Amino acid sequence: MSTTPLTLDEIYQLAKKTLLLNGCDEINAEAVSKTVANAERDGSVSHGLFRIPGYVASLKSKKVKGNARPTNHFLTQNAIRTDGDYGFAPTAIQVGIPSLVETANKYGVGVLTITNTHHFAALWHETEALAEKNLIGIACTAYMPSVAPTGAIKPLFGTNPISFAWPRKNKTSVVYDMATASMAMGEVQVAARDGHKVPLGTGLNKDGEKTDDPSAIANGGVLLPFGGHKGSAIAMMVELLAAGLAGDMFSFEAKAIDNADGGPARGGEFIMALSPQLIAGEGWNEHAELFFNQMESLEGVRLPGQRRHNNRKDSGPRHINTALVEKIKSLI
Ligand code: NDP
Repeated sequence: MSTTPLTLDEIYQLAKKTLLLNGCDEINAEAVSKTVANAERDGSVSHGLFRIPGYVASLKSKKVKGNARPTNHFLTQNAIRTDGDYGFAPTAIQVGIPSLVETANKYGVGVLTITNTHHFAALWHETEALAEKNLIGIACTAYMPSVAPTGAIKPLFGTNPISFAWPRKNKTSVVYDMATASMAMGEVQVAARDGHKVPLGTGLNKDGEKTDDPSAIANGGVLLPFGGHKGSAIAMMVELLAAGLAGDMFSFEAKAIDNADGGPARGGEFIMALSPQLIAGEGWNEHAELFFNQMESLEGVRLPGQRRHNNRKDSGPRHINTALVEKIKSLI
């Protein structure tokens, strides 16, 4: 695969210019480009520049509003709804998170439901933003049917990611962020593009047979949940929190109204923030550190989030697939 070196600022500027010239205003272009550039910085490549053609397609088809102005509504003292005004999720998250932080710091617990947005970024951006404010963050979103519930060969669940972040004093937070599918569809698409196989059990082909060919899964096949019936139950929970509770669309409903332009579908998001300082009390950090020490003392164990945080330390250029860079430049 041929690659083109781009600095983090060049990545940000390329994303922003492309979005601005395709219908985003400054606020929305900035929020999405920051998310894209931070994904490339951390090595979350399936949620970085790879997503720009999809973002652009959804602006061109007018599925997504490039001038969205999300607004916050307090449903109860602890429950906030951010109405995304049919824009991209990063803009709504930027509006909702400060109110969620304030609420969790005041009452110990806060819930943010985001509605009327289009989300296909990684979720660690939002949970880590909470952990940076010394809060525990939990987030999940449902996204377009591509995963078969255990026993089925047809999709009903989205790849339905869930992320959790634990704050640490003077250290980077511990964060996991994972699709409840055996693999995120973005990763399957990247594997197909780069000619790699995927592990057996990742998904089924169009005839309902297990396959290690990512193209057969991405084109007419179906993904499977991680961990069999247990992952299937967690994927169901994500649908219920991000759609049932948020009052937004289940994956199957989002598909029914989607115009298949390749951009992110409509959906909601559930985000919860908890204050360890108010709930566990003094000493919460030292107590958790004992646990992390135990974990890390086991040979072969690393904490989730460490790979990304190590990538983050590298301030040098990122090596981006050249065909992707050319494709994005052709959109300007
Ligand atoms: P991975 O399977 O690559 O990683 C899942 C988590 O496990 C990460 O937090 C990772 O940390 C951690 N991890 C991986 N290997 C180890 C290890 N050996 N020891 C400890 N921890 C480990 O992620 P997925 O492919 O499932 O998901 C990729 C992304 O796709 C996520 O960011 C998700 O939010 C996004 N997504 C977004 C969707 C949307 O609609 N918005 C839909 C589906 C997915 P680390 O990063 O440090 O490796």
